[in-house]
Amino acid sequence: MCILKTKNLKKYYGTAPNLVKALDGVDIEIYEGEFVAIVGTSGSGKSTLLHMLGGLDYPTSGYVAVRDKELSDFNENELTIFRRRNIGFVFQNYNLLPIINVYENVVLPLELDGSHIDTDFVEDILKTLGIGDKRYNKPNQLSGGQQQRVAIARALAAKPSIILADEPTGNLDSKTSSEVVGLLKTTGRKFNQTIVMITHNEALAQLCDRIIHIEDGRIIERR
Ligand code: ADP
Ligand code: ADP
Repeated sequence: MCILKTKNLKKYYGTAPNLVKALDGVDIEIYEGEFVAIVGTSGSGKSTLLHMLGGLDYPTSGYVAVRDKELSDFNENELTIFRRRNIGFVFQNYNLLPIINVYENVVLPLELDGSHIDTDFVEDILKTLGIGDKRYNKPNQLSGGQQQRVAIARALAAKPSIILADEPTGNLDSKTSSEVVGLLKTTGRKFNQTIVMITHNEALAQLCDRIIHIEDGRIIERR
């Protein structure tokens, strides 16, 4: 089943003569359970596309639909609630709070939302990501790869059906990068998630189920 779809999606920044067509008519369909890589050079529109898919920003024209729900039908408050319930974000910078431990970082968004914390589930996530024994550590006591695992655990804790990852391995060496992508694949399968990951690293993209290439705001090839 198609879970994420864009139709003639355009996102322009600025105005003429400085108009930037970051996305210029993007049609993609992503199916439930897929792990898709979005690959392209710097400035090709990857981040903009991911932001549109996650409802972090509104398109200039065209639409994004999650299942059959068009995101442009939501106002900003509704979009925020929709994101919290459905989408987990992972970024290049882990954005962990340094003064609290791993476990506290992972459950913090749920606490801030007043959401129920399924402690068994959080436990399972930490173990699956291989950081079960790091729960009382502070972020600065962990390697970059371990810190990114914590950020992934935090994204998973809200049980989103979709994970959007923007260069999640951008600060990691190649061995650790492969490990992190492998873990995303494992958690995606185990917790039934659809994952869209931006990378400019072709070798990492090859670990995914499918690669979408983007160039100058257009999809250029599918595999
Ligand atoms: P990528 O993630 O592939 O590096 P981006 O989606 O970040 O590409 O950017 C695509 C194009 O849109 C680039 O030319 C970039 O400079 C431009 N761009 C991105 N965000 C903004 C913005 N907020 N204002 C103006 N131009 C932007
Ligand atoms: P970049 O890749 O451009 O260095 P990021 O990918 O970290 O930067 O963030 C890009 C944009 O995504 C930010 O401008 C911000 O609006 C948004 N963003 C970053 N982190 C979060 C978050 N945890 N939740 C929601 N939006 C975020």
